[in-house]
Amino acid sequence: MTAPTIRLLSNQTINRIAAGEVIERPAAAVKELVENAIDAGAARIEVILSGGGIDRIEVIDDGGGIAQDQLALAIQRHATSKLADEALVRIATLGFRGEALPSIGAAARLTLISRPAGQDSAFRINVAGGAVSPVSPCAGAMGTRAIVEDLFYATPARRKFLRSPRAEGDAAMRAVWRLALAAPGIAFRLVAEERVIFEVPAQTEAARVAALFGRETASGMREIQATREGVELTGLAGAASTSRATNALQSFVVNDRPVVDPLLRMALRLAYRDVIPAGRHPVAALRLRLPPEALDVNVHPAKTELRFADANGVRSLLIGALGRLLERPVSLDTAPAAWAGSLRPSLALRPPHVSAAARGFAEAELALPDAPAARGFVAAEPRPEHPLGAPVAQILDTYVLAVGADGALVIVDQHAAHERLTEERLRAEFLAGQVVAQPLLIPVVVDLPASEVALLLDQQEGLRRLGLQIEAFGPGAVLVRAVPAALHGADAAGLLRDLADEFAESGIAVALEAKLDSALARLACHRSIRAGRRLAPEEMTALLRAMEATPRAATCSHGRPTFLKLSRADLEKLFGRRGL
Ligand code: ADP
Ligand code: MG
Repeated sequence: MTAPTIRLLSNQTINRIAAGEVIERPAAAVKELVENAIDAGAARIEVILSGGGIDRIEVIDDGGGIAQDQLALAIQRHATSKLADEALVRIATLGFRGEALPSIGAAARLTLISRPAGQDSAFRINVAGGAVSPVSPCAGAMGTRAIVEDLFYATPARRKFLRSPRAEGDAAMRAVWRLALAAPGIAFRLVAEERVIFEVPAQTEAARVAALFGRETASGMREIQATREGVELTGLAGAASTSRATNALQSFVVNDRPVVDPLLRMALRLAYRDVIPAGRHPVAALRLRLPPEALDVNVHPAKTELRFADANGVRSLLIGALGRLLERPVSLDTAPAAWAGSLRPSLALRPPHVSAAARGFAEAELALPDAPAARGFVAAEPRPEHPLGAPVAQILDTYVLAVGADGALVIVDQHAAHERLTEERLRAEFLAGQVVAQPLLIPVVVDLPASEVALLLDQQEGLRRLGLQIEAFGPGAVLVRAVPAALHGADAAGLLRDLADEFAESGIAVALEAKLDSALARLACHRSIRAGRRLAPEEMTALLRAMEATPRAATCSHGRPTFLKLSRADLEKLFGRRGL
């Protein structure tokens, strides 16, 4: 075999290869352009997306701009005005590799229009699939406008890997959301598919978190501050009673750079492990500041991954500080004083996956000092046609004991059972197209992050068929006019928030039907007999009869059993009497 000839790759090929790493998807292009605007000292940044950012991304800033004679250089590979420290230690800007613009220009059609202060007019330059057009004068305000069109038209292999415009748009919006949280001193406006997703002025960090997490969620968050060996942690983190169905409301900023870092995420999860039910996620907006030499941001071209010189130290700092926050007496956290101090034991009893509001009640009641352990009464005679028997007692205000006609002992988890009943009733009504909606006397306004508002409004029609009538109410809120009658009395705000989480999780475009099971489960747990509620004998009987008449009633929506049945044989085995 003859030895192959080695040749240098053309610039265009090099840029296309780099484009694959730096600009994986529209969200990455958006991130790079917004970072450039932040690096340019902008006071206001506007991002406009269409077609999920695949068709078009526009980022407008009022920063320092690029001089006419620098435009051609700006789009060249490894050309940067930023890297003062070539040892790559003291990196003060978000960008430094000089790769973003040439990569975008190689994969898409990029137009840069820029006008620095003191320059009479703006100038523009175009790069399409790596081909550069000459710089020419044009109209333009102070600052820079970057327009990206037809992302990956020049690299079809990459285009094939894009997800739906919906999912890509979602990721792009999240990238802006993260940067806006990292830079509260800059005003941001985000528009997607002609809808204003959020618009925030320059503000304090706490105000920015409230605007982008939703005021309601933010009101359940507490300030945190701690220092350890030169590393400073600040920000806001949810109290134990604040959790969400997904980890979407978690933001980490390290030395002003938003990051998606597994170490930080894991530390957060560990800190909340004992206080948040399985399957729920803490909310947090955390910021770390550490000496540049304790950090390597140059791990990946996208710069969202980090390497901490002292990973264990950072982890301990987070877990320690969050642990102290979570240990604060609950009375300071607006919960009933009755259960201050009994937080941990009562939390251990909490059934997973109930709404924050329902949980608050459940905990308060579970911690009542003198709740009787069991209440018995004279039961009706069990009948053979009732496999779950007749109730004889309720214990711990949570379990119904019943005895079957064959003498079997039945133990029902009242909360799990009722959750399933509610879910099945909703499902049957929905499938029959006749969910009864109950109008609210006073419509409820629910504050939500603007991106979740958009998700819910997209499901407006499906939700209406579920008996949930919602309307737009500005960029950061939704108005609830009616709830399903089956959920009458449920906390409408918590209900909507959990549904928004559910839709956000899928990255979207799916119809309600495709998410029906999980959506119904989410709804049902908002309107279920709480563990810890005293039931009247008639209520227990009604519960048992309804369970017998309902499909899938043997498990709750999370797969846990709703009842246990111990036959005479089972009891004998347990007592070692079997075979005597
Ligand atoms: P980097 O940000 O790593 O320097 P980029 O390719 O993103 O690399 O940008 C190249 C250069 O173009 C930057 O160093 C900066 O000088 C200039 N530039 C890019 N975007 C802007 C902007 N919005 N405002 C001012 N200058 C910009
Ligand atoms: Mg850059």
